[in-house]
Amino acid sequence: EVKAEILAIGDELLYGQVLDTNSHWISQELDLIGVRVVRRTTVGDSREAILTAFAEAENRADIILMTGGLGPTNDDLTKPLLAEYFNCAIELVPDALDAVRTFFEKRGRELTPLNALQAHLPTKCTYIPNVLGTAPGMWFSENGKIWMSMPGVPHEMKKLMNDHVLPRIKERFQLPIIYHYVVKTVGIGESWLADLIKDWEGNLPPHIKLAYLPSLGQVRLRLTAFGDNPSELEKDVALQVEKVMPIIEKYVYGFGMMTLEEAVGKMLREKNQKVAFAESCSGGYISHLVTSIAGSSDYFQGGIIPYHNHFKNRLLGVDASTLEEHGAVSEPTVIQMAEHVREMFNADYGLASSGIAGPGGGWAEKPVGTVWIACATKTKTVTKKLQLTQDRMLNIQLTGVSVLNLLRI
Ligand code: ATP
Ligand code: MG
Repeated sequence: EVKAEILAIGDELLYGQVLDTNSHWISQELDLIGVRVVRRTTVGDSREAILTAFAEAENRADIILMTGGLGPTNDDLTKPLLAEYFNCAIELVPDALDAVRTFFEKRGRELTPLNALQAHLPTKCTYIPNVLGTAPGMWFSENGKIWMSMPGVPHEMKKLMNDHVLPRIKERFQLPIIYHYVVKTVGIGESWLADLIKDWEGNLPPHIKLAYLPSLGQVRLRLTAFGDNPSELEKDVALQVEKVMPIIEKYVYGFGMMTLEEAVGKMLREKNQKVAFAESCSGGYISHLVTSIAGSSDYFQGGIIPYHNHFKNRLLGVDASTLEEHGAVSEPTVIQMAEHVREMFNADYGLASSGIAGPGGGWAEKPVGTVWIACATKTKTVTKKLQLTQDRMLNIQLTGVSVLNLLRI
């Protein structure tokens, strides 16, 4: 098993000014090629912290991938510290100098002495060109371990990884063949799902592993098979999926990278059906999700956002007496919202949301996170009451998932 550690360098990461998306992305890429990430470390721009991190990473991993701290300024320490750690000098690399000069020329700028310094690299490293920026990548092969230093800027790092690092790792190490397959479910919690499929899971062959990846009202089931014959792995996994599908069919909306809004769009297009939304607490978020998919005009008729009660009545014709008696967050209100928006937009489905997203509002009978949703067709209207969380954005997102899921049932 080949082990990797990811080292993110920069004070801004520790202070919470920048989210460390680099480590997340690198983890995913390594996982896909069968390298096991054993640790992710974040350190600030401090000599002691970085040197300690080098020494510790070397003990744990075969591959150490680091990002950040490569700028030409004094607070960027990665390069001098790598030279110190590997006990070598820093010298001019002519190819690297050409590359930085070209980088500046293309932008109509003179090479500054500070930037010329970026072409000086530790003598023990292999220079890896960075065509999108000025800080070169540095590859070290020392004491049987691989070290790679990359710039912190995400798109520069990704380009270096894709063009150079991942191919070199695949060439250098004997990696297992891995096959991933993802089944996407909605409308059932992780533990209920686990309970439902526990017999199936218990009978999985040893070379197939199952992971539950929950997020936002959905659970992804990821099957990972290890072996040395890709087409056999694919067949083995397909067989297991075939076995589990009858048990979980009603929760499964798609496979692989498919999103819920794509799955719903596909379904509507296939049935040649149209949809319209009346969104109160979700504020247009669901319409945004649906219209983010190319070609959504085939099935998305439109929507309205009657946020204020007055407009639930004026625009959508929800009875003033219903609003008065039951309130905006109530079953009778969302029923009328869904039915009226369906008629207004001449759609097959009218969907509605009304709730208390928070953090303000809410009282004993209707605490923050209370949401009513409805789906109306020509012949019937179904409703659902959700009791969500204290977090406003999460409540909006979860409402979106639940509303879209109403279209499937
Ligand atoms: P360059 O010389 O191209 O600027 P660099 O190695 O000096 O590269 P840094 O100065 O450390 O890179 O970071 C550059 C920018 O990249 C930062 O402003 C930050 O927004 C972003 N960045 C750094 N590290 C990460 C990370 N781990 N995840 C996401 N973004 C990052
Ligand atoms: Mg930095």
